[in-house]
Amino acid sequence: MKTIQSKVMTATEKQIPVNKEELFKNIISHSKEYGFIFPSSEIYDGLSAVYDYGQLGVELKKNIREYWWKSMTLLHENIVGIDAAIFMHPTTWKASGHIDAFNDPLIDNKDSKKRYRADVLIEEHVSKIEGKIEKEIEKAAKRFGESFDPKMYRETNPRVTEYQKKIEQINNRFKTALNAGDLAEVRQIIIDCEIVCPVSGSRNWTDVRQFNLMFSTQMGSVSEDSGTIYLRPETAQGIFVNFLNVQKTGRMKIPFGIAQTGKAFRNEIVARQFIFRMREFEQMEMQYFVKPGSEMQAYAFWKETRMKWHRSLGLPETKYRFHDHVKLAHYANAACDIEFEFPFGFKELEGIHSRTDFDLKSHEAHSGKKLQYFDPEQNLSYVPYVVETSIGLDRMFLALISHAYRTETLEDGSIRDVLNLPAFLAPVKAAVLPLVRKDGLPEKALEIMNVLKFDHLCHYDEKDSIGKRYRRQDAIGTPFCITVDHETVDASSANFNTVTIRHRDTMKQERVATDKLQEIVEEKVSMKKALKSL
Ligand code: ATP
Repeated sequence: MKTIQSKVMTATEKQIPVNKEELFKNIISHSKEYGFIFPSSEIYDGLSAVYDYGQLGVELKKNIREYWWKSMTLLHENIVGIDAAIFMHPTTWKASGHIDAFNDPLIDNKDSKKRYRADVLIEEHVSKIEGKIEKEIEKAAKRFGESFDPKMYRETNPRVTEYQKKIEQINNRFKTALNAGDLAEVRQIIIDCEIVCPVSGSRNWTDVRQFNLMFSTQMGSVSEDSGTIYLRPETAQGIFVNFLNVQKTGRMKIPFGIAQTGKAFRNEIVARQFIFRMREFEQMEMQYFVKPGSEMQAYAFWKETRMKWHRSLGLPETKYRFHDHVKLAHYANAACDIEFEFPFGFKELEGIHSRTDFDLKSHEAHSGKKLQYFDPEQNLSYVPYVVETSIGLDRMFLALISHAYRTETLEDGSIRDVLNLPAFLAPVKAAVLPLVRKDGLPEKALEIMNVLKFDHLCHYDEKDSIGKRYRRQDAIGTPFCITVDHETVDASSANFNTVTIRHRDTMKQERVATDKLQEIVEEKVSMKKALKSL
């Protein structure tokens, strides 16, 4: 069990992380130290790949969820939400294909006894070759200077084209093997690519086996097979089985969407990388029902719309990329991932899938109920096609916090930790700080709190020096610190009824009238502004 470093380091002990691995470790320990994320049931040494969100984590998570929810349901008149139960009739999972096909190919290294996902081993090998290409291009760019044409170089340089050919060969072999369910061939690819176990360094691999990722449990007091039910491995099926309920009661006309956020459970083979791959996690999914034949148009629309949502968070565009699936899932006719550059490399953050009419048709077949839409314009009924957008809330949380976390050296040589979160998502929006704990300053600060608290989560803090209090707020990403000093309460001062407001990122301070505070804070932390930019 991985234990997370919990010691609070002093400024002098603290160091700027030297590499991405160290940075990632610091992000994990920072998340715990400030009440964002704790290992589950930690007093019993934790539970592998299960985490709890602490007092600040729950706020950040709620804000991300709210931003996603509003961007779906407020900005699209034809999208409504539901909240389906986690438990579903077991036939749901037969119809969806999860009982037969929700498998990951696993392989063990006989020397280290470590278990891996065979597909991940191959994908990581391919990424390494891609990395070599990027290095070649970087070197050439330095050599040729401004006249360098990366596209041309990629197409003509013999070493790069050789690497590219290798990637294509591996991908094609892998795709054919998976499509044919040929696990011996998947193993052979691992052998032929000379992939070694990162722990033992050996190539002593077992056979590849399929492993079903669903958790099962018993319903009621019956313990026979008939009582077996599953914890949902995705939220999407709750939407499909409610398709007609929502369409009829909401009088929805195609195209329309159903959005849902909620927990999903997967018995992941290799669960590591903190909250990136958990056994219990939260998804934010939207299924968009369209007329058959128009799904590619909807697919292109949702790719663009979702990327726009990500861009609105203010993270650099270079941190995102699309990745088209090499092997399409059994239900899809087009699929891609939005990948994000986490501290451990580019990985899937969100999936966009054109799921055809597979799910609805299969539920029709298994339930014997019609799941069709009557199109009044064409006077005919059909099973709609579906385009899905599916993002992991926890992965989005990790993307945000890992980009936001900085350790900065200040002019006086001291070091500060800061979370440069988008202001509208920050857990605490403003901290109200009386300079000293006397002379009527706490009372004035509480008065300000009492105005702001109805709109925003604010902290009141009167302990320690003002500098220490600023650092605490920087470390949790609070965009504003509002300081009440003697002039604020001195009726003879020109600064009577004004406070200083300190900005997290620039650390600049300005003096503003207390009655302007609400407006100033609102302007910067409003989710409305971000939604309007979409
Ligand atoms: P991966 O290839 O990383 O296992 P996936 O392709 O199985 O992911 P989907 O089934 O497309 O994932 O699920 C949609 C989204 O749910 C993913 O993009 C991801 O953000 C999130 N997700 C999936 N599995 C997990 C997990 N174990 N922990 C946290 N988030 C997850």
